[in-house]
Amino acid sequence: MEVRKLMGICPDCGNLRDALKDHCPYCDCLVAPLTNPELSDKIFVIDLEVGMPAVDEALESLRELLRKAQIAGIRIIKVIHGYGSTGKGGLIRSAFREALQQHRWADRVRGYIPGESLIAGSDALHALSRHHQQLIKTLGGGNQGNPGITILVVA
Ligand SMILES: [Zn+2]
Repeated sequence: MEVRKLMGICPDCGNLRDALKDHCPYCDCLVAPLTNPELSDKIFVIDLEVGMPAVDEALESLRELLRKAQIAGIRIIKVIHGYGSTGKGGLIRSAFREALQQHRWADRVRGYIPGESLIAGSDALHALSRHHQQLIKTLGGGNQGNPGITILVVA
């Protein structure tokens, strides 16, 4: 699993540090960083495929990441899970989508849009862009209609 680094402000020393880590490398405090207002305009990317973790392991780490992302003020998460129909990649995708359908992270995730529904002119894209105009610009052509991703809207 790979997580793109996002920065938050340390409430103790004021330095910018990894928004998802509780430990500050500058002042050594164990306080969670403050919400970075810029984060609400960015897409947080989690790649579930990197390192090919076991499915259970991947979904369990995701739970913790979602909690931290929510605290950090992140609004949109792009989860990369691949779309292989066989093998581990395919297993992660189906387990992840199934967990979403079962509202496994309902306290963190308000809604989700499968990559294959993100097509120009679609209702899903329209709804997303109405609430997140900045974000939708960041979702370039490579994301539209891509079945290997899912967009999560953080609760
Ligand atoms: Zn600090």
